Amino acid sequence: MKEVVIISGKGGTGKTSITAALASLANNTVFADCDVDAADLHLVLNPVVSKETDFSGGSRAEIISDKCAGCGICARMCRFDAIKLNGPPNGAIEKTCQVDPISCEGCKVCVEFCPTDAISFEPAINGKWFVSDTRFGPMVHARLGIAEENSGKLVTLIRKEAKKIAEEQGKDFLICDGSPGTGCPVIASITGADLVVVVTEPTLSGQHDLDRVVSLTESFGIQPLICINKADINPQLSDVIKSEARRKGIKVIAELPYDDAFTKAQMMKSTLIEYSGGATTQRLRAMWREVIYELG
Ligand code: SF4
Ligand code: SF4
Repeated sequence: MKEVVIISGKGGTGKTSITAALASLANNTVFADCDVDAADLHLVLNPVVSKETDFSGGSRAEIISDKCAGCGICARMCRFDAIKLNGPPNGAIEKTCQVDPISCEGCKVCVEFCPTDAISFEPAINGKWFVSDTRFGPMVHARLGIAEENSGKLVTLIRKEAKKIAEEQGKDFLICDGSPGTGCPVIASITGADLVVVVTEPTLSGQHDLDRVVSLTESFGIQPLICINKADINPQLSDVIKSEARRKGIKVIAELPYDDAFTKAQMMKSTLIEYSGGATTQRLRAMWREVIYELG
C-alpha cells in the first residue's frame, strides 16, 4: 500500500477539490481527511458514517468547588492564566476558582499544588473521528470541537486508522487530504508518507508558501511533487515556479487552468472527474498517472 498526501502552503488553493478528483480516479483506495481544522472532503465524497469515536487530545483541569478552599494557589501557579478567582461560591466560603477550559493547556501544575485535592484532571473530549463508506472507498475523517487544538494528534490518529483499514482490506493506496501550512498538523500529515503533492497557485504569497512547504517536506526526506492550480491567472509567475522547481530537481506534475467547473462540481457534490470531461479533467487524469509512475 502506498500513501499519497496532498498538501498546500495555505488554505484556498483548491487542494481539497484536487484530492476529491484524484479520489474518483484511484482504484482500491482508502481516503483520509487530515485537514481537521477545515475538514471539507466530506462535502464531495458524501460519506456514510459507520463508526463514530470521541477524540481526546489530552486532559484538562477542573475545580471541584465543594472541595476548593479558595486559597488562590492554583491561579498563581498557572502559567497560562487559565484560572480565575470568584467562581461560584461553595457554601462554606465566598470565593472559589474556576478553570477556563479554552486556556487550560493541561500541564497539571495546579493539580500538583492544590492543598485540598480540589482539582480533577480528566481526559477532555476535543472532537470526534469517523470511519465512513463513500462511493470511492472507505474514508476516515474527523470533526474538531470549536476552538480546540491538538489537531496534530488527531491527524496522526486519522492516518493510523486509515492505514489500518488499508492493510486489513488489501488496498493499493491511501490518499490523504493533508493540512495546509507548515505547522504541527502538516508535519503530522506527511511524516512517513510515500509521496507528497504540493498544490500551489501563481501568486506572490502562493510562491512564498510553496518555498516553505517544499523545504518542510524535504527536511522530512520526502521528495515533493508540485501541482500549479489556476496556472493561467499569472503565466509569468507560473513560469518562475516551474524554473525554480526545475532548479531544485522537483517535478511539476500538473498545471491546471482556472476552472469554475470545480465550484460547479462541488455544488453538485461531485468531483470534477464526475462532473466534466473537459480539459482540466484530462490534466487531472494525467496528473494521477504521474503520481502512480512516481510511486513506482
Ligand atoms: S489551589 Fe485548590 S483549594 Fe486553592 S483555590 Fe485552587 S482549587 Fe481551590
Ligand atoms: S492544568 Fe496547567 S494550564 Fe490547566 S489550569 Fe492547571 S496549571 Fe493552568
